[in-house]
Amino acid sequence: MPLSKQQISTLISLVVNSTPDSLSCDDCLVNVAEFAETELMGTSLCESMLKVKQHLNNCPCCNDEYQSLLEALRSLNN
Ligand SMILES: [Zn+2]
Repeated sequence: MPLSKQQISTLISLVVNSTPDSLSCDDCLVNVAEFAETELMGTSLCESMLKVKQHLNNCPCCNDEYQSLLEALRSLNN
């Protein structure tokens, strides 16, 4: 059964929406400390933290920042 135009456009929007990176690097860095703490405490991520996570996956630059922050937090906790 061929897909209707309606179904195709629904599928396309699903694919597009499944990989959102609506955060800019600035927005990410504002929240990255909170994200690192949330990760360390193992609490579940809220919507804005999920956006940070998404951005970190797509942005090696912010991910570097996040990794060094994580290091710092870990050494504080020990
Ligand atoms: Zn970034």
